[in-house]
Amino acid sequence: MPAEKITLNDDGTLSVPDEPIIPFVRGDGTGVDIWPAAQVVFDAAAAKYGRKIAWQEVLAGQNAFDETGSWLPDETIEAFRDYLIGIKGPLTTPVGGGIRSLNVAIRQILDLYVCLRPVRYFKGVPSPVKEPEKVDMVIFRENTEDIYAGLEFEQGSAEAMRLLELLAEFGGKWAQIRRDSGLGIKPVSVTGSKRLVRAALEYAVKNGRKSVTLVHKGNIQKYTEGAFRNWGYELVREEFSDVAVGWDDCGGRPGDRILVKDNIADITLQQVLTRPEDFDVIATTNLNGDYLSDALAAQVGGIGIAPGGNINYVTGHGVFEATHGTAPKYAGQDKVNPSSVILSGVMMFEHLGWTEAAADIVAAIEATIGAGVVTYDFARLMTGATEVKCSEFGHAIAERL
Ligand code: NAP
Repeated sequence: MPAEKITLNDDGTLSVPDEPIIPFVRGDGTGVDIWPAAQVVFDAAAAKYGRKIAWQEVLAGQNAFDETGSWLPDETIEAFRDYLIGIKGPLTTPVGGGIRSLNVAIRQILDLYVCLRPVRYFKGVPSPVKEPEKVDMVIFRENTEDIYAGLEFEQGSAEAMRLLELLAEFGGKWAQIRRDSGLGIKPVSVTGSKRLVRAALEYAVKNGRKSVTLVHKGNIQKYTEGAFRNWGYELVREEFSDVAVGWDDCGGRPGDRILVKDNIADITLQQVLTRPEDFDVIATTNLNGDYLSDALAAQVGGIGIAPGGNINYVTGHGVFEATHGTAPKYAGQDKVNPSSVILSGVMMFEHLGWTEAAADIVAAIEATIGAGVVTYDFARLMTGATEVKCSEFGHAIAERL
């Protein structure tokens, strides 16, 4: 069985061979611990269905800098571009220098416009809330626009002063911006908003979800956040009227269609805590999505167990990733929880259509945690648990597959 590339079909679906070549970045810091623990699980789950992954290691982050002098070598981007699907551990953020964040750079270069963050509860995981099992949400966070586009001018810079002068020409409140301000621009486009909401709706249809909530701050930021909401509803009418309906168009009674509703971001952060069962798929702008996904992750076990994927559903590119950082104080100690990168792999398997193997991994994780076999982060919150090393946790999952 030769190793082959994953390719994109004309209809936008992926063609996945039984031995796909998948580039991976081990990651800095605790990447050396979590990656091998996760790979054991991925290989065992794939083998169960007669499949094998031809892993191809590529470099990024501190490791890449030390070996090649570049934080994000062109070969790495080319591998992700060429093989379509990849997975990565956490990366050290370079301090100073040209790159703000390697993760943001990868997302922008490959135009991975959806940051997909499923948030659900795994039985046995310690949680700070009373009914964590009610949390089952999938967040579609816009990944290329908003204040994350990096359009900022430093206070006092020549560019900031020029922009202030230009803005002053508009008069009124534009002329009243304090001269000692730093400036940031928040672009939110029709294109960026509609493709994000389209991805969320297509996901909801494919996965039998009941509602899509557009989360925004449109009461204050009318022409960016408010527009995102309006364009979302517009898209429902234009492209999804047979399967979905906006709240105002059905008085909140969607029948058997998917209900599309909207919610202001600040109240959403309250309601995901007080009535999580009201939220299913969430589509939101970049900054809201950033806050919301980490706040939600806390309800179901924290960042040690929260996975993520960055996807362009049109080109077929996807990079799945652990959402926590490199946790340098634990690096090389074979201690931290590998679940975030393992569950990122589960998302990758689902994306490849390897749904049985993905479900098997989830069941094996639940069985392992259910048996009280956990890494330090959960052990300190549970009574009577057996604390194991990162590698032992990986093996314990693989054995239960
Ligand atoms: P961090 O690496 O996420 O670590 C913060 C804390 O989260 C750790 O001290 C630990 O908590 C917990 N944690 C992290 N990974 C864990 C795991 N696998 N299992 C269990 N607990 C885990 O954040 P940071 O210390 O702020 O950032 C360190 C570096 O990572 C920085 O260079 C940062 O820029 C980078 N970073 C990268 C990414 C990414 O690549 N996706 C994301 C965020 C940050 P306790 O101390 O309570 O045990």
